[in-house]
Amino acid sequence: MADETTTSEACPKCGKPLGEITLTKTGRKLQRCSTGSWDPQTKQNVGCDYVKWLEVEPEELDEACPKCGSKLILATTRFGKKMKKCSTGVWNKDTKKVDGCDYVEWINGTTEKLDEECPQCGEKLVLFTTAAGKKMKKCSTAGWDKDARKATGCTYVYWLKPHEYGGAPKADSGGEEFLPPEPEE
Ligand SMILES: [Zn+2]
Ligand SMILES: [Zn+2]
Ligand SMILES: [Zn+2]
Repeated sequence: MADETTTSEACPKCGKPLGEITLTKTGRKLQRCSTGSWDPQTKQNVGCDYVKWLEVEPEELDEACPKCGSKLILATTRFGKKMKKCSTGVWNKDTKKVDGCDYVEWINGTTEKLDEECPQCGEKLVLFTTAAGKKMKKCSTAGWDKDARKATGCTYVYWLKPHEYGGAPKADSGGEEFLPPEPEE
């Protein structure tokens, strides 16, 4: 590969050059066809709808894997969910299993204490916001036993409907959710 400064890659759909690499709100990189654009008014693609999703470079963390001691990396899924995973773990498409160390720690949203009591056990509830912005109430005694791989404590969970926490999230993601899904490799 001689020249890395030009990105004159041609669109496989229409043959026109691809446009600039842009970043979505969730931190993912994509490259659209230069003849295509997103119309925020009509919420539709104008022109060629080819989109190329680019691999987001995983970030190496200064943390060791609790399972094997290798470095952990911060990876982002195609839907913008974040997780820490072991740098030695590689997804094997044939066996549909992880080769190497399979340690994964999802980075989920935030937990807030609520001044509400659990209808099941009377302990306090917490408000949990997922990375995708969904909210649920759950019991503060709920936990996850990593060794036994099962939930511990009280199992009360209540998912909030969008209207219960102030309306549906605004469609301000630049239309990312309307884009065709990334093809499976
Ligand atoms: Zn095109
Ligand atoms: Zn590991
Ligand atoms: Zn409870």
